Amino acid sequence: MIDKTATQHSQALDKGEYSSEELVSSYLDRARKCASLEMFNDLDEARIIEQAKQSDKRRKSGNALSALDGIPVAIKDNICDINEKTTCSSNFLKDYRSPYDATVIEKLKSAGAILYGRTNLDEFAMGSSTENSAFRTTRNPYDPDRVPGGSSGGSAAAVGSLSAPLALGSDTGGSIRQPASFCGIVGMKPTYGKVSRYGLVAFASSLDQIGPMALSVEDAAMLLHSIEGRDVRDSTSHPYADKHPTSAKVKPMTGKELKGKKVGVLFPDSSTEGFDASVLKACTDMRNWLEKQGCEVVEVQSKLWQYVIPIYYILATAEASSNLSRFDGIRYGTRSQQSNLQDLYVRSRTEGFGPEVKRRILLGTFVLSSGYFDAYYNSAQKARRMVRAEYLQFFKDLDFIVQPTSPTTAFKVGERAENPIAMYQSDLMTISVNLGGVPALSLPLGVDQDGLPVGMQITAPHFEEDKLFQFSAAVEKDFTLDRSGIVSKSY
Ligand code: GLN
Repeated sequence: MIDKTATQHSQALDKGEYSSEELVSSYLDRARKCASLEMFNDLDEARIIEQAKQSDKRRKSGNALSALDGIPVAIKDNICDINEKTTCSSNFLKDYRSPYDATVIEKLKSAGAILYGRTNLDEFAMGSSTENSAFRTTRNPYDPDRVPGGSSGGSAAAVGSLSAPLALGSDTGGSIRQPASFCGIVGMKPTYGKVSRYGLVAFASSLDQIGPMALSVEDAAMLLHSIEGRDVRDSTSHPYADKHPTSAKVKPMTGKELKGKKVGVLFPDSSTEGFDASVLKACTDMRNWLEKQGCEVVEVQSKLWQYVIPIYYILATAEASSNLSRFDGIRYGTRSQQSNLQDLYVRSRTEGFGPEVKRRILLGTFVLSSGYFDAYYNSAQKARRMVRAEYLQFFKDLDFIVQPTSPTTAFKVGERAENPIAMYQSDLMTISVNLGGVPALSLPLGVDQDGLPVGMQITAPHFEEDKLFQFSAAVEKDFTLDRSGIVSKSY
């Protein structure tokens, strides 16, 4: 059962081939077999089974709430659910319970989806390997000595190991797409403003988006369809989010539709440093495919590409330092017992945050401080507008832009942990998408010499999610990843 897609489950549940209770039980079995991958901060089996029983009752009486009714969705542990702890994989929030549901959780509940476990992440979503979690290091289902990527590594490993059919992640600089690429699944960052951020613990608010992680493009669309929409509780939620709903069903583009599509490629060549040979090969395969379909392939040159990491690490840390100031030992989470207020702030923050979070708060506070604000923060804001303008320019002419999701396949646990700059390089191909606010999707495009998945990223103009899914589904048809090795593995 577990190697089927969510769309297939939905049809099987409709036909009565199995019940939601049977379905979640097989996923829970699988999650137990994969326990050493350390994907979940919490997996409350009793609550999951109870939800499934309720769903089965609804379906029996002909009252299924949506196509997702009875289907498990794993949730990244930085999205608030009133019934669960929301820890952000931080000691600061290790016992924190949110008094309200995130909008996406409300929507999943009213769609009848099974809220299935809280997945591990880099602390406060800061990282690219899930090694920055205060609680556990998640492992890659294709090779447990390697990282699953991050920061949504728990969600990616859960779907990639077939321990859950669907998951939600959050993406500020690549945190859905890069782990999706490392774990051989589909991960999608929607247009900024398409999905409400209400109840997502803020990292860098102007970049954060929640998005779907799934085994297929169609499943990703189905999940996005059920979580998106305008929300007055998020001031950056966009009116367009309602005017342009994503269709839950995806028709892959036909040969006729693909012919003549103008596709920009941002492919590294063998002289570009830091790219694996397997990633270069995936680019060649992709180019050949595009040409075979009769697409017009256009080389894209970005003048700003080399600046996106510095731009991002100035803006994201500035916003993080401001957002995380609420964790002061008084309003939320950990409180150090101290007799004076200053010590209480200092000790609570010293004890509650891990090293990467502290590094970012320091960096962010520095770039916002008087005397440096113009030189760093304001310049980065201007540069960011240029990145957005560059996308608008590209898309005057192009239908899509294609590039590898990450310069490498999954790296070894520990390999980059001591070297933040090397870690930040993993985001080279994903960050500009967040800076530009455009939607992008990562899908598997073959494997490297060790059998590790390679991911390809496809970007579309603002709010063109439907076209992005239709095009990606056509690519997926010819590059379906063989997951049979995963099904038989236990860890
Ligand atoms: N890896 C990037 C970072 O560390 C992106 C994280 C994210 O998208 N949440 O900031």
